[in-house]
Amino acid sequence: MRKTGFFVDEKCFWHSGGNYALTAPVGGLVQPLAAGGLPENPETKRRLKNLLQVTGLAEELDCLTAPPATREDLAHIHPASYLDNFKALSDDMGGELGLRTPFGPGGYEIAALSAGLVIGALNSVMNGQHKNAYALSRPPGHHCLPDWANGFCLLANIAIAIETSPAKRVAVVDWDVHHGNGTESIFLERDDVLTISLHQENNYPLNSGGVKTIGTGKGKGFNMNIPLPPGAGHDTYLYAMERLVLPRLTDFKPDVIIVACGFDASGVDPLSRMLCSAETFRLMTRQLMQAAETLCNGRLMMAHEGGYSEVHVPFCGHAVLQEMSGSSIDAGDALGARIAGQQPNAAMQAVYSNIIDDIAKGFGL
Ligand SMILES: [Zn+2]
Repeated sequence: MRKTGFFVDEKCFWHSGGNYALTAPVGGLVQPLAAGGLPENPETKRRLKNLLQVTGLAEELDCLTAPPATREDLAHIHPASYLDNFKALSDDMGGELGLRTPFGPGGYEIAALSAGLVIGALNSVMNGQHKNAYALSRPPGHHCLPDWANGFCLLANIAIAIETSPAKRVAVVDWDVHHGNGTESIFLERDDVLTISLHQENNYPLNSGGVKTIGTGKGKGFNMNIPLPPGAGHDTYLYAMERLVLPRLTDFKPDVIIVACGFDASGVDPLSRMLCSAETFRLMTRQLMQAAETLCNGRLMMAHEGGYSEVHVPFCGHAVLQEMSGSSIDAGDALGARIAGQQPNAAMQAVYSNIIDDIAKGFGL
């Protein structure tokens, strides 16, 4: 048995967006880009897969696909009206749902396949087929609300997978640089799903992801937001994991740890202002693997979310998958030295650490 399942499907790379230049609609004074489209494009993901093949790491993973999520799977989270509307637009010429989340003809089937990869990866970890697993899901899911698409997310992939899995207690650690508002809102009243989001404060969505949102009703205390100011880098992320995420996971005792794995906290991402490198993602993966080993027999599953640097995402993803599989094949980080040289100075690092300490106090940690 290979240790790590890698769930991927070329059709997910065929999901197409609309006519945007980054997140600005083309028109008026916004000229179309030569390459066209949104920053959420296939290249970041396809280049990760390519790098895995070129280095040979793909040979050490169990690369497989999964069936699309069924309508019944999706209905655990999304109302019939939303799914009907999505399917009707998809069967026609494509269109847009919610905010800034366009899709082309057949977009419904591709989104269902993306959710299916996440379901497949989670199932493989829960049934012991793999020690850990990674779903290269596209379109992403962590922003999607039950009845409102936003932030390039059309279906709530991770929430759908949780609701179709036998896991009783699930922890979701969202290190995508944007707030995991969809996952948070879906499980806000639940005490059996712990949701933790590390993100750049007020990046996306605006006015979302504050420290005071800790859950409601019996879910109170089961949502943790870690909003970090722009410029937070390697040490800040690792400290937030050590000071906040790991102790909270230890208290919660999950059956499985799911990571909403965005690589947009990269030091060169066009949609954020953070300073993480491939090494940051490697070490956060190591921290969570150790926690999973202690808490839930190593069960760790990652679902791909954002990450918009075509150059850097492949190196970040490769480092994560090398760590998960225990492989000796190292791709390094072509931009690592440049990002390492831009880290905050000691005075700024103290500011970031204080912010994390203050959040910890609020949670009694
Ligand atoms: Zn993101």
